[in-house]
Amino acid sequence: MQQDVIVVGAGFAGLYAIYRFRKLGLNVRVLEAGSDVGGTWYWNRYPGARCDVPSVEYSFGFSPELEQEWRWPEVFSAQPDILNYAQHIAERFDLYPHIQFNTRVTAVDYDESQNLWHISTDTQETFSAQFCVMATGCLSVPNKPEINGQDDFTGQTLHTGLWPKDPVDLSGKRVGVIGTGSSGVQAIPELAQQADELYVLQRSPVFTVPANRKAMRAEVEQVFKENYRVIRELQQKNPGGVSNFRPSQAKATTAPTKSEPRLIRNLSADERRARLRQYGLNDLLTYRDVYTDIEANNIANNLFADEIRNLVKDPETAEGLIPRGYGIGCKRQVLDRDYYDTFNRDNVTLIDLREDPIETITETGIRTSKQSIDLDVIVYATGFDAMTGALTKANITGRGGLKLTEKWQYGPQAFLGLQIAGFPNLFTVTGPGSPSVLCNMLIAIEQHIDWIGDCMIYLRSNNISGIEAREEAELEWIEHVNEVAQGTMYTTPSCNSWYLGANIPGKPRIFMPYVGGYPRYKQRCDDAAASGYRDFALF
Ligand code: NAP
Repeated sequence: MQQDVIVVGAGFAGLYAIYRFRKLGLNVRVLEAGSDVGGTWYWNRYPGARCDVPSVEYSFGFSPELEQEWRWPEVFSAQPDILNYAQHIAERFDLYPHIQFNTRVTAVDYDESQNLWHISTDTQETFSAQFCVMATGCLSVPNKPEINGQDDFTGQTLHTGLWPKDPVDLSGKRVGVIGTGSSGVQAIPELAQQADELYVLQRSPVFTVPANRKAMRAEVEQVFKENYRVIRELQQKNPGGVSNFRPSQAKATTAPTKSEPRLIRNLSADERRARLRQYGLNDLLTYRDVYTDIEANNIANNLFADEIRNLVKDPETAEGLIPRGYGIGCKRQVLDRDYYDTFNRDNVTLIDLREDPIETITETGIRTSKQSIDLDVIVYATGFDAMTGALTKANITGRGGLKLTEKWQYGPQAFLGLQIAGFPNLFTVTGPGSPSVLCNMLIAIEQHIDWIGDCMIYLRSNNISGIEAREEAELEWIEHVNEVAQGTMYTTPSCNSWYLGANIPGKPRIFMPYVGGYPRYKQRCDDAAASGYRDFALF
């Protein structure tokens, strides 16, 4: 079965790839392990799952008709609504016929003699195409840490990133949740309401702030709909790919609004506290110097700790919830609904693994150094092998038998997060070295798919059969990616985030996304194309 393009993954990137590539006249087939579209939003069905980017921003801009007809029920959408949106797109644009579901890719091999990619699957099929596009997502390979005795547990084991499609009934159950990143923090308040007893096993406390929980009011929705073109233009100019458009700015032009950056160090202690009282924890995220200056960062961290002591009634639990040794901005910012208040419930117990580490999982629960906890359900909210996991697990072999795992043994090396030297005609969507997870993903996806589509058409119209990033361009880009990350809170030595691969034992510690901002990055991609792809070998 030969196609022009095989796309791996039917999340938002795979969906837009079909739409775009088909429009360009290419024959495209998508292979998807799940039984439906949606990617992240298909797999992450845990209670409380929702997006931390406003729905109007976290939506596609390629179809004005889609923008007008789709209705977001909330300002920040929950997982079921985002999944509905993905399904609607697949139906509305007739994308389903191009997707083969329940098909997991097991190997991706470049055949140099034919200049074809052969893609093998667990359905024992092999698909071949000139181009292969890995639309496999940045947070799609769940990380389930190895813990002694975990296979002995006779209760139910769940992972937030692989939550079952059928409803899980936790009523009357004793539930233990391991992990307090974005997924854990979203799930914990919901699990606390459903379960009889909830034990939160926390290794690293989190800096989390309350999320916006407004319903989408009809008049606000109308203003958004009237201003989608402005919103899309503003997104293109913003480092994180978000317009920050407010309905009250309805008459705004497409010029990004400029305001003086607020610095926490410029305020007196009383002024800082007054603002904290007025605006809550979210205020501490609004000072520019908190992200660039260690002293400013410490001021904000200390205020944050004081506020946790205010919010959580039991002093020991409050102390346990205070992050130490790393500051705001090291990890991905987390948003919550009633997280700290959940620890004031009688049925919720915090187990601080820094003081009381897990020794083993047993048949009946978890034994820590100080206690045995009987459990019916263990929930792993332990994150993902981020950014590279889906690529290294796909068993990709390029030119001359080069394995991607071999090439990336010391860390991911790619050009613009789009192409990899040694792997001609293979493209990665939102790959390492691109803004990806530091950007509004839908904006990043549209930009990548457009670039890849234009590139394939350029090759076809110029009778060029292959494109491959040059190694020197790749090295130069990686050097730049590292350089711009220096001096940010992301790369402070005490910070152990998944951005750095630090959550996966043995994974090289490299800051993977591009922190230089979406507009600057896009310009570099556009320049690469406009120069006739001089950073690439064409053959
Ligand atoms: P995560 O941020 O990597 O958090 C995983 C949690 O599990 C951390 O608390 C981690 O502790 C803990 N953990 C890992 N291994 C452990 C072990 N062996 N023992 C004890 N604890 C362990 O993963 P996530 O919460 O799934 O979030 C990942 C990313 O997905 C987010 O940063 C975000 O980009 C995205 N996401 C977004 C949303 C949203 O839009 N609101 C929601 C969910 C996820 P350590 O910190 O000590 O490693």
